[in-house]
Amino acid sequence: MRLSSSFLPTLKEVPAEAQIVSHRFMLRTGMVRQMSSGIYAWLPAGLRVLNKIADIVREEQEAINAQEVLMPTLQSADLWKRSGRYDAYGPEMLRIVDRHKRDLLYGPTNEEMITDIFDQFVTSYKGLPALLYQIQWKFRDEIRPRFGVMRGREFYMKDGYSFDVDYDSAVVTYHKMMLAYLRTFQRIGVKAIPMLADTGPIGGDLSHEFIILAPTGESGIFFDSAFADQNWLEMPVDIADKDSLASFFKRMTSFYAATDEKHDEVEWDKVPVERKCEGRGIEVGQIFYFGTKYTESMDVSVTGSDSKKIYPHMGSYGIGVSRLVAAIIESSHDENGIIWPDAVAPFKAVIINLGMKDQACKDVCESLYKTDPENFLYDDRDERAGAKFADADLMGHPWQIIVGPRGVAQNIVEIKRRKTGMRAEVPVDQIIEYMA
Ligand code: ATP
Ligand code: MG
Ligand code: MG
Ligand code: MG
Repeated sequence: MRLSSSFLPTLKEVPAEAQIVSHRFMLRTGMVRQMSSGIYAWLPAGLRVLNKIADIVREEQEAINAQEVLMPTLQSADLWKRSGRYDAYGPEMLRIVDRHKRDLLYGPTNEEMITDIFDQFVTSYKGLPALLYQIQWKFRDEIRPRFGVMRGREFYMKDGYSFDVDYDSAVVTYHKMMLAYLRTFQRIGVKAIPMLADTGPIGGDLSHEFIILAPTGESGIFFDSAFADQNWLEMPVDIADKDSLASFFKRMTSFYAATDEKHDEVEWDKVPVERKCEGRGIEVGQIFYFGTKYTESMDVSVTGSDSKKIYPHMGSYGIGVSRLVAAIIESSHDENGIIWPDAVAPFKAVIINLGMKDQACKDVCESLYKTDPENFLYDDRDERAGAKFADADLMGHPWQIIVGPRGVAQNIVEIKRRKTGMRAEVPVDQIIEYMA
């Protein structure tokens, strides 16, 4: 994309309403714009990041054989009356009445709807397990929307749902999902640590919240730093083998990690002192086994192998895709701007032309740009070098390719890695390889 003709507006001033760094940087780099309280428009730079996160989420869901669906944002109140949640959900639910005076709601989550879809199509245990997910907008009328897209009212979520024949089979699905989540966050380039979460009346220990370490987070967290050294992408786990999954899960849960709600001082004392990490964190996802809660309350059953009626065991699995955009920035920035992880950066590199009037500079920039116009941002504006450098740091592109007349005369450009500040002079024809 050429910066001169693109819609990538940057703001010089820090907007007063933005209290945390991610919100300030998202507004300053023109990623989003608030349209009303907690409701945002996504502009080109923001949308690119949102889509890249969604793509990674999708690939890792497909890798465990979850299948994508797309359910509507508006739901009938009748569905929620069947499960008993229409009254129980409270004021976070946005309720709507249509012209025929029928009650609708903007979905805050989709357990009821997916259970109803399942009910329409699956009648026998042979249709189990079923694992479906969507990436769709949700609405929760949060009492205090704040911190930009971190706690919005309308937000983008991956929500997945599973149906299994019994508890043991549901546990296998839970293990698969845990693996998919760890791989998803590792690929995105953030450290999201699964922490035991409250299971309420369901009981058991099959709920985890995924937490990114950041001082502005809402939860207090305690974890063993050895967790962060694990490479989940390279760990050989056979997702078709429940023992392989169980041993992966056992290894994962052997590292202490808990939010303040679930913190256990006795277990914490067993963690070597040099590996104890304490801080604050942001919830970017949650996975949850809840058994037959909805299948029973909505009376959705299948026939088992012995012809008896079975209520399938369910789980649900969320990732806050839009919250992640802000959470990544909270955990990856410096005083000059965002530092995007490579996998989700809106652009791989910015080409900074310092010789707008120099034909040789222009030629180098143009030919470089044309090798990958989708992933390169070409700063071809008639601006001072200082302004171009500041915007490049602010927008956080992983690489900056600096093209000036002196270097070009020797067929050399300068390259800067945003994350480390490393700079190097590289021959023009080796740039692409250098960034690989
Ligand atoms: P929170 O504790 O922050 O209110 P939650 O536990 O209510 O979140 P879940 O029902 O677990 O949220 O939804 C799954 C994911 O959706 C969360 O882990 C979070 O990343 C995201 N999410 C929830 N509420 C919001 C919101 N208001 N704005 C942006 N993302 C959200
Ligand atoms: Mg909530
Ligand atoms: Mg929560
Ligand atoms: Mg949650």
